[in-house]
Amino acid sequence: MKMMATIHWVAWDKVIASKKEGGLGVGSVRAANLSLLSKWTWRVKTERESLWSKVISGIHNLYKKSFSNLAKKTYGGVWSNAMKARVDIKEIGIDVDSFFICRIGDGKSTMFWKDNWTGNRPLQIQFPGIFDISNQKNSMVKDRIGTQGYIGNLKRKPRTDQEKDETQQIKNLCSSYTLNQENDRWIFKTAKDDDFQVNHIRHLIDSKISCPSVGKIVWCNLVPLEVTCFAWRAYHRRIPSAAGLVNRGIPIPSTQCQICNEESEDVDHLLLKCRTAQEIWKKIFLWCGLSDQNLSNIQNFLDYEASWGD
Ligand SMILES: [Zn+2]
Repeated sequence: MKMMATIHWVAWDKVIASKKEGGLGVGSVRAANLSLLSKWTWRVKTERESLWSKVISGIHNLYKKSFSNLAKKTYGGVWSNAMKARVDIKEIGIDVDSFFICRIGDGKSTMFWKDNWTGNRPLQIQFPGIFDISNQKNSMVKDRIGTQGYIGNLKRKPRTDQEKDETQQIKNLCSSYTLNQENDRWIFKTAKDDDFQVNHIRHLIDSKISCPSVGKIVWCNLVPLEVTCFAWRAYHRRIPSAAGLVNRGIPIPSTQCQICNEESEDVDHLLLKCRTAQEIWKKIFLWCGLSDQNLSNIQNFLDYEASWGD
């Protein structure tokens, strides 16, 4: 069978970039995979009564581990893939844990120092001085908040100004919480229904690993997708103009424009500058009741297009 060589006109990172960043918004398989895997940590925390969660937590001793402590590459078995994904996402520069926040009920399943339940960051990060001299670094919230507020358990009395100041802040903070009979409940901060948003994480990953672009392509539902995609490719200079083909090593006799024979046929010439193209644009502008524009390149054209309706 004869193999047909295919020209890859657009780099993959430009294709997977979000529309906001000038891509096609296709999204990478890697991002989809990582975000789906990262949901397993969320599930093991939020579905703790289910059998699978109990089995996984039992095997890997996850009951007294904060979300952030779950991200390790050392786990074995099926759980290792989910945990490696979390490490990979962290290395990309996304802190998935920062989206998880616990609404305190009875305080039995939330780690006082290590889980994220107040102030957007775990208390061990907010109050490192007191955490250092704390006796029970794996305390649960129920161990540290009583009817009288904060229950300290320190190796020694706070000495430095920082330690004294932090103690006061923790006391103030704990006094605003009253434990009740309900279970603690994890919520995903940006979601309306509090549940984990795979797509949200996927887009974040894509935005980090894809190459941002500066195109101003208007993704309007009234314009057929093929047309917008063609404009997007033209913006990236990735349509088979004569000059484009030669750039990719395709032997053609001449790059001169076959219509006017005046200039090299690159994207700007083919679509805007060629006399024939200009005649067509004149008629289109007249038809649309727009003043004639001298658009010399695709960037100008798309900027002009983006300004319609302003
Ligand atoms: Zn021409």
